Amino acid sequence: MILSSDKPAWWNDQLRDECILLAKRALPNEAFGLVCRLSPGNDPEIVTFPGFSTETQFDAEAQSVIRFAYRLLATNGTVLASFHSHPNGRTSLSRRDCSLFDWARVHILLSRTNDGWTLMFHTSSSEDLHISL
Ligand SMILES: [Zn+2]
Repeated sequence: MILSSDKPAWWNDQLRDECILLAKRALPNEAFGLVCRLSPGNDPEIVTFPGFSTETQFDAEAQSVIRFAYRLLATNGTVLASFHSHPNGRTSLSRRDCSLFDWARVHILLSRTNDGWTLMFHTSSSEDLHISL
């Protein structure tokens, strides 16, 4: 895995603001979501799932995730990145966090700092990570 702060070409301030807002709203717990193009040519948007989260972990409701995956398949959409927050400020990914690369090559980690959030773009070096249904 490559750790980098390089932003993907599709990244923009609106997505950044929305990720930060979701991270803030979830406090003191973690937030989780995906950045998706719901169909080809659409602007990237953020998708979140109902679930369970604590200060150090999250679980998205499986049925919602599966329903979303089939919907995305039907509209020929793509998952551009996953994101989640670390309210405790941890800047590294746990082994469990690395499973998020099953969604997309890019993972955005929002780590809480004294005066806000730091965003890190983690990019998997593997080219062939994608979900097959
Ligand atoms: Zn984490």
